Amino acid sequence: MIAEGCGYKLDNIMLSGGVIQRRVSELAAEIEAEYRGREVIVTGVLKGAAIFMSDLVRRVGPSVDIRMDFIAVSSYGNSSASSGAVKIVKDMDTYAEDKNVILVEDIVDTGLTLAYLRDMFTARGPGSFKTCVLLEKPARKKVDTVIDYKGFTIEDVFVVGYGLDYAGRWRHLPDIWGVVPEK
Ligand code: 5GP
Repeated sequence: MIAEGCGYKLDNIMLSGGVIQRRVSELAAEIEAEYRGREVIVTGVLKGAAIFMSDLVRRVGPSVDIRMDFIAVSSYGNSSASSGAVKIVKDMDTYAEDKNVILVEDIVDTGLTLAYLRDMFTARGPGSFKTCVLLEKPARKKVDTVIDYKGFTIEDVFVVGYGLDYAGRWRHLPDIWGVVPEK
């Protein structure tokens, strides 16, 4: 179970796969209730949100006309001192103008990335714009961000699993784990 070689190891399960799946179903039900009879472009931020988003959209019934899209971003410079300025590595394939958009993110830490993306998306003149975030870490928040659909609030621990990685590892785990330095 312990993966070696990247300086960190898995420590404890913070959210089990079962707990995550139940919450994802609740979020999907909220989205279904709000968007019934309408089209919405659910847009995931790669790669971290890919697993969360694929579970989420499969729990929204056919009464919502869901379209899927993705963006990929990378931070400028040193990520531990994030300025929040992000580079769009891959943009949406669809035009957001006049469309309903839900942006799906894995985790909000300082909030800078989500704040940047919100400004970028709202400048495109969508019909509506909402955010859906699996995890929020309020302890390190630097800017207030509106999260319309939130999975869980967690303490200030670096987490991996269920799409989240450290140095590219552990995204495939069904549970969310805290990691600690390997000694
Ligand atoms: P923010 O701009 O809110 O500080 O940073 C958000 C990004 O930082 C997330 O999209 C994610 O890539 C990364 N991040 C922040 N905290 C964690 C964490 O605990 N685990 C992982 N895997 N990534 C994190």
